[in-house]
Amino acid sequence: MEQEHARPWHALLVEEVASRLDTGALGLRQATAKSRLARYGPNQLAEAPPTSALARLLHQFKSPLIYILLAAFAVTLLLGKTIDAGAIAAILVINAAIGFTQERRAEVSVRALTRLVSPRTRVIRDGHEWEVESRELVPGDLVLLESGTRVPADLRLVAATTLTVDESLLTGESASVHKQAGAVAEDAPLPDREDMAYTGTVVSSGRGRGYVVATGARTELGEIAGSIRGEAAAATPLQERMRRFARVVGLVVGGSSALGFLIGVVRGESTSDMFMLAVALAVAAVPEGLPVVLTITLALGVARMARRRAVIRRLPAIETLGSTTVIGSDKTGTLTENRMTVQELWAGGRFFSLSNEALLEDPRARPVEGAQDLAEHPPLYLLLLTGVLANEADVFQTERGQVTRGDPTEAALLLAGERLGLAHEALRGHWTSDAEIPFEPERQYSASLRSRDGRRALFLKGAPERVLAMSTAQLGEAGLEPLDAEAAHAAAAALAGRGLRMLAMAYRPLEEAPARPDAVEGPEGLTFLGLTGMMDPPREGVREAIARCQDAGIRVVMVTGDHVATARAIGRELGLTSDGAALTGTELAALDDAALLGRALEVDLYARVTPEQKLRVVRALQAGGEVVAVTGDGVNDAPALKAADIGVAMGRGGTDVAREASDMVLADDNFVSIAAAVEEGRVTFDNLRKVTFFLVSTGAAAVITLLSALTLGWPLPLLPAQLLWLNLVTNGLQDVALAFEPADPGVMARAPRPRREGFLSGLLWERTVVAGVVMAAGTLGVFHWELARTDSLPDARTAALTTMVLFQMFQVGNARSETQSVFARSPFSNPFLFWATAAALAVHVGALYFAPTQFVLRVVPLTDGGSWLRIVLVAASIIVAMELHKLLRRPSARDAPAAREGRG
Ligand code: ADP
Ligand code: MG
Repeated sequence: MEQEHARPWHALLVEEVASRLDTGALGLRQATAKSRLARYGPNQLAEAPPTSALARLLHQFKSPLIYILLAAFAVTLLLGKTIDAGAIAAILVINAAIGFTQERRAEVSVRALTRLVSPRTRVIRDGHEWEVESRELVPGDLVLLESGTRVPADLRLVAATTLTVDESLLTGESASVHKQAGAVAEDAPLPDREDMAYTGTVVSSGRGRGYVVATGARTELGEIAGSIRGEAAAATPLQERMRRFARVVGLVVGGSSALGFLIGVVRGESTSDMFMLAVALAVAAVPEGLPVVLTITLALGVARMARRRAVIRRLPAIETLGSTTVIGSDKTGTLTENRMTVQELWAGGRFFSLSNEALLEDPRARPVEGAQDLAEHPPLYLLLLTGVLANEADVFQTERGQVTRGDPTEAALLLAGERLGLAHEALRGHWTSDAEIPFEPERQYSASLRSRDGRRALFLKGAPERVLAMSTAQLGEAGLEPLDAEAAHAAAAALAGRGLRMLAMAYRPLEEAPARPDAVEGPEGLTFLGLTGMMDPPREGVREAIARCQDAGIRVVMVTGDHVATARAIGRELGLTSDGAALTGTELAALDDAALLGRALEVDLYARVTPEQKLRVVRALQAGGEVVAVTGDGVNDAPALKAADIGVAMGRGGTDVAREASDMVLADDNFVSIAAAVEEGRVTFDNLRKVTFFLVSTGAAAVITLLSALTLGWPLPLLPAQLLWLNLVTNGLQDVALAFEPADPGVMARAPRPRREGFLSGLLWERTVVAGVVMAAGTLGVFHWELARTDSLPDARTAALTTMVLFQMFQVGNARSETQSVFARSPFSNPFLFWATAAALAVHVGALYFAPTQFVLRVVPLTDGGSWLRIVLVAASIIVAMELHKLLRRPSARDAPAAREGRG
């Protein structure tokens, strides 16, 4: 079937297409699909080649901090200080090696993670609907399209219901194109091929189905793919901020080194000695590991979040998550299971309950076995019939049991009908469909125009408010009556107040068929039939997750298309709202932006809102200074997802368009995963801060030590080679290891980090200075003592160097938590850090007793037990200092969880 076609697909009739592709209305057989997959290969465009090893290696040297080291390397080489140059080279190589391997590991694991939410497609195979990975599509597959789908392969449409497609990707034309299934002229240009849907274009509205005619590189998109691929990855704000931070630190360190050089020269030291010292000081103080650690920390954060079912699509989201102050969540499917069962019915002015074994409370209808009994209660029968006919879902039996497809709301109606004796397959066969209006959230109803034996009727179901507004009469037990909208509203409110999801049904017999399907658009004069109330239980763990968010100073609000009473009942049950303050779409529409801003800060529930209103809510919250995460699934949620600080899409239930507009995708659609992601976002940023604090405070210690000694006119307490050594043994791996720190227990008990706050908070800057001063003073003290005691510079310097090494080892422990005592954390909760530190200590002590290193570092063995004791005691002072600082300088009130304003 892949021979040259005399005529192109778009010019063929549907039957010709099917026979040429050897397929049909029941789709391919699974076995055929499998063998075709082997023959045609997966449906994917060639992947962008992975970053080359060389490019990645070069990337490791792109940082102002590394430039300083490279310059230092060049200078030492020129001065003929090969040993020092070697040490600097070692630092550069270690740094690049760590960055290189970690970055590659990160890339591999991130790529694996994105597969968690790889695109999926609904297809008909063996006569039933299945969801398959889009890459498994083969020519002949019958693909289902709905609003928000990104077309997964080139399709020849066989059915289209109000189907419009945005083809701007291929044609540049932004207006959506109307589609239909009839063949078009052979020479029609691509934009005029109304019966085709091309890979990569997006369904803006409606439903459709079509045969796959081309996959992968053979699609229209595949032929031009080279020209649209390869969007350069922009630096994330975090990386941008890191770059600026690095520049500032680099300048300060450079300035200090220059200052040291000047002081030394003024004091009469040799210029070349002072030059070497300045270089070594710069090397020791520059936190050159920071860019590498940033990459690693972010990658670890992504992996940790993915383990908790939140897949990050844009890296900056990790940082923003830590600052999130409001989460706006959908109700259905995110807070609740989206496992609907019809519990209550209201028809002919009476309630019927399906919730217990006694199927119906109505005594007359209790022994319902078949439709005949129901027929005695026309309102109830027609209510159920409408639920079955205005319905796109499917329920069928397989060997493994009952399977449902499509919208759970609609599947529930099929199951309810089945329970009461309505066989939906047979009924759908009798009542043939003439036209359909599929459900779209902004329309809030769906309808089906059907005929049977010359009778014809429009069946419609949707949100009660919407349906009642279109109805003029109602069907009572005694027949047609004038509409009593008030009673219906009261019944809906009563059921919704129990947390049930409400649908109303209405119908209208028609004399003649409207000419076009669109003619049933905006129906009116309907006969109201009644209501169904569905239960959708809250997801497990959501209540706890909401409470955790609230403890963490994050407000959770519900933004739903559902009835306000349903929203309130579920909101109360989940502890999301205490006073039930709600705003409905109608009320919201009457508010201007300023008024909405005022209300948005106190309202917990938004009900019956449209996607555009969701966007307004997001904007209002942001105008109020909030950092907003919002969920969305529909095609029209994309603007809200983009506008939000964190757009959250659904991996299972949502549309492709929503996913592509999002920053984060929930693999399980679950609110709990959002809360988990927020927590991991905080942990990730915390760890970044720990590394920064550690590197900057130890760098400061080195600078203060040397500048003080020079100013005091002392001999140098540390030689250039020793400074380089210090950098190597104390910063080589410990900084990376800090990125692996487990979460602080209090991570969800404090307020969100202010978004404007830099890498280090004011408090941490203060602590950095304290640490720098204490470590410098200790080092100088030991140096002075040993010099006085032994009158030997090598001895005193060895003691000073060892003090500094120990200081930094203790400081790693201090850096493990911003607030917690170092003793509160088991050293083994971060084994990487523990072993990296132990190894570094062993290496340093070994170097003291090993002749070649003794020579290179100009150190001598420390033979005096008293010296060791003094060194350890002095070095331990940094623990005392940091413990005291943690104890005395708590985060200010601003940082404590904000008393949730406007709430009791
Ligand atoms: P949410 O996802 O926030 O619960 P939706 O936009 O899906 O809200 O639904 C809003 C309202 O539209 C529902 O309360 C219900 O009355 C109606 N509705 C939902 N699904 C359907 C459907 N498949 N057909 C007709 N009406 C529906
Ligand atoms: Mg929905």
